Amino acid sequence: MSTLTFGIIKPDAVRAGKYGAIIQRIVDNGFNIRGMKLIHMSKKEAEGFYAVHAERPFFGELTEFMSGEPCVVLCLEKENAVKAWRDLMGATNPAEAAEGTLRKEFATSIGENAVHGSDSEENAVIEISYFFSKLELV
Ligand code: ADP
Ligand code: MG
Repeated sequence: MSTLTFGIIKPDAVRAGKYGAIIQRIVDNGFNIRGMKLIHMSKKEAEGFYAVHAERPFFGELTEFMSGEPCVVLCLEKENAVKAWRDLMGATNPAEAAEGTLRKEFATSIGENAVHGSDSEENAVIEISYFFSKLELV
């Protein structure tokens, strides 16, 4: 069944001019882009988005990074979209990311790792509605 997931092309990849290449990979891998926009999150918006990580030692660094520069937010549709998008992204740490994944190719560190993807269908619904209104989804 075709489902939705939420993705971000993070500030490191936007800064490096890699967003076009990443969007091409998304399209080539059979995802249907249902929503896409360039945004610049405030610190508070980044903290709200990553609230589940509030107690982690890297929370400050992560929310500074995500609010420091623009990123591209995406609503993606595919068969089993959550898993398909995480498979294309690769492991959190680029040193552990498989050949052919976006993080292997574009990430520079475990923190600045090029892309985000929802980890469950429940969280995909929450994350899509955090960033997109109904009118912004096709
Ligand atoms: P994923 O993005 O693969 O779902 P997590 O949900 O565990 O990974 O972490 C969210 C984000 O927090 C990561 O993508 C990365 O940007 C950052 N992060 C995770 N672990 C670390 C770490 N040990 N040091 C710095 N940043 C980290
Ligand atoms: Mg995660």
